[in-house]
Amino acid sequence: MRIELLKEIVNSIIGEKSKGIVELLFEKENVNEFVIAKKLNLTINQTRNLLYKLSDEGLVSVSRKKNKSKGGWYDHFWTLNLEKSLLKFKEVLLKKKETLMQSAALKKSTRFYVCETCGIEVTEEQALMQDYTCQECGQLLVLKDNTKEIATIEKEYAHLDKDLAEVLAEIAILDQKNAKAGQRRQKAFERKKAKDRAIKRIASAAKRKSTLEKNKSAKKK
Ligand SMILES: [Zn+2]
Repeated sequence: MRIELLKEIVNSIIGEKSKGIVELLFEKENVNEFVIAKKLNLTINQTRNLLYKLSDEGLVSVSRKKNKSKGGWYDHFWTLNLEKSLLKFKEVLLKKKETLMQSAALKKSTRFYVCETCGIEVTEEQALMQDYTCQECGQLLVLKDNTKEIATIEKEYAHLDKDLAEVLAEIAILDQKNAKAGQRRQKAFERKKAKDRAIKRIASAAKRKSTLEKNKSAKKK
């Protein structure tokens, strides 16, 4: 998985400040929060605030360990949760796409008028009501050309689509990994069962043999 994609995920949910955290947690497990604080040049409380925000969204998980040298206080260790991050980002992207689609549709279907002096924008209906003059400065309103805005929205939409495709591909890879791990666990379980059966078989065979020998020697006597 690309670290840039992860940064984009975390950024979309928590904002710029937490980007450095991604670099520290990427492809690692159980990173000590004091290490994170030191590397980010933040106080431990600022660091915890960021991490708890991420944790509220399920993007990181935490484990605690008692620190005997600190009188039994707990140290916190943080790990990125890739799967949750991807699922969360997928949601964010889908929502953004919907908003963009609606705003593009509105811009295509509605005519807007604008005051070139104040920059105030109104719908055609509103413009008609105020006689096509600006309520602030009295200047004539002009029909707004929003082809550029629509083009910008469409570009952004294409970018979201690209991100979404990448997120879906990463989710598919994780699903595959999980399925394989499940198969491995199942096979290991079956191997253990077969082994247990074999042990039982050998044990009961040995038991039968020893009773047989006991009987034999009893008859001899
Ligand atoms: Zn005006």
